Amino acid sequence: MTEPPFGRFLLPGPTEVHPDILRVMTHQMIPHRGSEMVSLVESMEVPLRRLFHTERRVLIGSCSATGFMEMAVRCGIRQRVLALVSGSFGDRFAGIAEACGHEVVRLNVPLGETVEPDMLHDALRRMDVDAVSLVHSETSTGALAPLPELAAVVREFGEVLLLVDAVTSLAGSPVETDVLDLDFVFTGSQKALALPPGLALGVASERMLARAKTLPGRGAYLDLLAYDEAFAARQPTNTPAVSLFYALAEQCRRIELEGGVGARWTRHDAMRRAVEEWVEGPGGALGYRFLPRVGRRSWTVSCLRVPEGRSGREIVRAARKEGWTLGTGYGPLKDSTIRIGHMGDHTPARVAEALAMLETVTT
Ligand SMILES: *Cc1c(COP(=O)(O)O)cnc(C)c1O
Repeated sequence: MTEPPFGRFLLPGPTEVHPDILRVMTHQMIPHRGSEMVSLVESMEVPLRRLFHTERRVLIGSCSATGFMEMAVRCGIRQRVLALVSGSFGDRFAGIAEACGHEVVRLNVPLGETVEPDMLHDALRRMDVDAVSLVHSETSTGALAPLPELAAVVREFGEVLLLVDAVTSLAGSPVETDVLDLDFVFTGSQKALALPPGLALGVASERMLARAKTLPGRGAYLDLLAYDEAFAARQPTNTPAVSLFYALAEQCRRIELEGGVGARWTRHDAMRRAVEEWVEGPGGALGYRFLPRVGRRSWTVSCLRVPEGRSGREIVRAARKEGWTLGTGYGPLKDSTIRIGHMGDHTPARVAEALAMLETVTT
């Protein structure tokens, strides 16, 4: 049996997994407290630090990204959080904080827009909060928040921690953890890392660890301090998803071979530009429009308004018949938009093919 050509599954998560990665996942199990596991974790330390642009420890959890979102909430918020909400995932962050018993002040912007630095500055001056939650690349709208500028604003407010969901930005567009002095930044395996779902990765600042020590409601399974202690000894916290650890180690190797995370950013930037150029040309002529404005577009997911009178769901169904998988809109944008997930191991050439296919199914 020949494998179908790679690159036609453009969902904004889970993303298509390269056959080389799938192969290493068939390896036999190893004891999770033995020297082989220590070596496996150790082999990933340097590549993962490079990926996060950090000198700090990268923690790996056997849960989906939402698990580390809850870790951010339980271990980073003392009492009241300012939640920046520009779509469904920002709303989820706020909802988890509420579910964990915190006071949540939501700063909402219309779908497709992002909270801007002056708005954040204003809000922080008026309100007494101890943390800010932010989704860098809002996968539901394709909007990319101006992370460096927003981080600089938060840093003006002393003890306020910045908790960053970088689930569809990290490994696909710049996230400079140490330079921006982010307090907690996390991602999941099944987005720009192009692994199967099931792992979360995160980095905590010294400030975040110090805050966590003062919080009694951290729980046990997602306790940041337990993770930090375990990974200091190159150990997972509990029985980890061993097969996914193999997959992550292989992806670390592949990313280094590709030329490191910088090369990955460049490739993602090219995929985003391919969609922009198409919308400025033939796609725009058909009636496709970007939801977010120029300069606020995610490098990993493009959310496009479909032509007047057309249904996004129908277009996605027609693409499926041609052998391509695209994302429908999310939540309230379900039928008025489509989403192209151009992240992970995808290439600008395949994205161009996908766009040509969209032209044929639209006309
Ligand atoms: C997918 C996604 C999540 C949730 O990830 P799970 O792995 O499903 O828990 C959170 N935030 C963003 C921005 C996402 O795209």
